[in-house]
Amino acid sequence: MNQTASVITAKVGLAKAKDSALLIGFFKDKTGLNAELSELDKEYGNAVSSYIKGNSFKGDKGEIKSIYANKGIKNIVLVGLGEEEKYGLDVLSNTIADASKRMRDSKTENFSIFLESFKGRFREEDCVEKAALGILMGVYQFTEYKTKDKDKIKKIRQATIISNSGKTFDNEIKYASAVADAVNKTRDLINTPPNVATPEYVAGYAKEIAKKSNLKCTIFDEKQIESMKMGCFIGVSQGSINKPRMIVLEYYGAAKTQKPIAIVGKGVTFDSGGLNLKPYPYILNMKDDKGGAVAAMHIIEACARLRLAVNIIVITPLCENMPSGTSFRPDDVLKAYNGTTVEIKNTDAEGRLILADALSYAAEKKPQAIIDIATLTGASLIVLGYAGTPFVCTDESLRKRLNNASAKSLEKLWELPLWQEYEDSLKSDVADVKHIGDEGEAGVITASMFLKNFVGDIPWAHIDIGTTVWSKVDKGILTKGATGATVRLLMEMMREWK
Ligand SMILES: [Zn+2]
Repeated sequence: MNQTASVITAKVGLAKAKDSALLIGFFKDKTGLNAELSELDKEYGNAVSSYIKGNSFKGDKGEIKSIYANKGIKNIVLVGLGEEEKYGLDVLSNTIADASKRMRDSKTENFSIFLESFKGRFREEDCVEKAALGILMGVYQFTEYKTKDKDKIKKIRQATIISNSGKTFDNEIKYASAVADAVNKTRDLINTPPNVATPEYVAGYAKEIAKKSNLKCTIFDEKQIESMKMGCFIGVSQGSINKPRMIVLEYYGAAKTQKPIAIVGKGVTFDSGGLNLKPYPYILNMKDDKGGAVAAMHIIEACARLRLAVNIIVITPLCENMPSGTSFRPDDVLKAYNGTTVEIKNTDAEGRLILADALSYAAEKKPQAIIDIATLTGASLIVLGYAGTPFVCTDESLRKRLNNASAKSLEKLWELPLWQEYEDSLKSDVADVKHIGDEGEAGVITASMFLKNFVGDIPWAHIDIGTTVWSKVDKGILTKGATGATVRLLMEMMREWK
């Protein structure tokens, strides 16, 4: 775990702030100083006003300028927020994340934020929550496998959000800290290399989580998975010497009579493509193929930590997809847990197979809804790029919950249709169904259509994080590597679940 920073709130006059740095936000072309900033300016010999004039600081989005002083606050940081009309909580979160990275890189361990200057038209509570998330997600680093100069790794210790409203924002800080922690632990485990994070390792990790958070934890090994007749899951797993596991985690925060919400997460700890081996460079980063499972585990952990009033069951099939003499093959027919026979056409479309069995298992538990999270398709990149995550849904009320959570959590989702036409492409000549549709056509949807065969009549949503699980850039709340996709989204949904 690499996150050591904490966020607190305080009520102090700006001129009295003592941290080594103070962040002040300015909208574009609105660089005048209010009463409080004027007082600060005076205290520091007009350093702020003369800097703004002399250096033509405009408040452009992304502009971060430091004014160094040799008393009290050592570094007064002017942060550009861009045009006020275009300002949103996403800009707030990402701008504060960028400024936090800048503070860390300049070896500043403690800094303050003048909340009023970042508030725009939003509620202070929402600003505090998004600012805290911005800081804690923004300064994340994965340094576990670096052995040199460990003591030189720069870290933020504490950020203080200064608000003069007199509120303490305890709930917002508690929520943001728990969610950021879940996001960062999700990133840690996804970033953990595949030679370490095998199915067995991830299962052991889940056991630890369960013990600490008082969750019920059941782990099925390969023999049990086999005797349960999860033929699709076994088929995918059989090429690897690292044997499969299935983790079931349960949390009861509401009355036992309330049906649980099931979260199913795809957990392929390394996806080589199997006999349909992925060529370079597509085989890189395939440790991220466990992203759905890892997110699901940390979501239930955070729900328990926050004692949310919901019942949740997490089901994660974990295996490796490898080529060997025992691998499953194209043209094999596998028999799924629910009895459906499946014709295999491409061993690299393995995620939907392990999900098929996990989804039927989830449906058997009669939950009020099933949500699956999966790095399922490369086609997700074509649909929405890196900006957002495609999903499908069979139920109006679940759809509303997800869209609402998406807007509030700032994790962008976009729904795709489940039209009948797509089902035809899954017809098989030899089995009940084929597991892939026609090459190059609506890949996210045909994968979803396949999964739909295994959820029965339970309200269901499938979230395809094939692209958004990973970031190529270190910008705003993102750092290079795993993103922790869906953690903020589903935490928001669970928080509001009634
Ligand atoms: Zn694959």
